[in-house]
Amino acid sequence: VVLTMRKYSAVVLGAGGVGKSALTIRYGRNVFVEHYNPTIEEEYHCQLIVDGERCSLDILDTAGAEQFTGFNEGYLKNGHGFILVFSLTQDASLREIDNVRQQILHLRGGDMNIPVVVVGTKLDLASEREVPRATIQELATRWGIPFYETSAKRNWHVTDVFEDLVRQMRRCYPNG
Ligand code: GDP
Ligand code: MG
Repeated sequence: VVLTMRKYSAVVLGAGGVGKSALTIRYGRNVFVEHYNPTIEEEYHCQLIVDGERCSLDILDTAGAEQFTGFNEGYLKNGHGFILVFSLTQDASLREIDNVRQQILHLRGGDMNIPVVVVGTKLDLASEREVPRATIQELATRWGIPFYETSAKRNWHVTDVFEDLVRQMRRCYPNG
């Protein structure tokens, strides 16, 4: 019997320099890239088993300044799920994901059931931290979105992010 695997696509969004590529590559390749070209946009194809079920996941690591102006709407229209990334060391990057979240809602007709995860990065840089946990907690509760504090460098809670998103995508798109 050949079972067809469910296949999902996730889009990684957020301001430049917050660690989108480091997070994606930590997950997809299990290495930490210290200096990744910030203009490279790349899709990573992964297979993972969540709750005993295997699925295929394409992860698009976005790049470039269009995020801050016109925005490439194609990302937002075509993704099954979204990873909204900000840096725990940069207050302004949290406001940027609020902006992105609103654009997603706008394009998807205000549908609140879109799979989304909020991710704060660089948890290892404790002395440079600007965003308190309570602030993220409050926002995430208001938005109704789960959040994770991660470190791509130390590989803390990176897997949790993608597994959470897969669970949400399965609920939202049971047929892949
Ligand atoms: P992007 O522009 O959002 O893709 O950001 P990058 O992934 O290229 O990361 C930007 C910078 O932050 C790089 O210098 C990374 O080495 C650094 N960085 C990313 N994630 C972490 C992390 O978890 N810990 C630390 N200490 N640095 C990180
Ligand atoms: Mg990048």
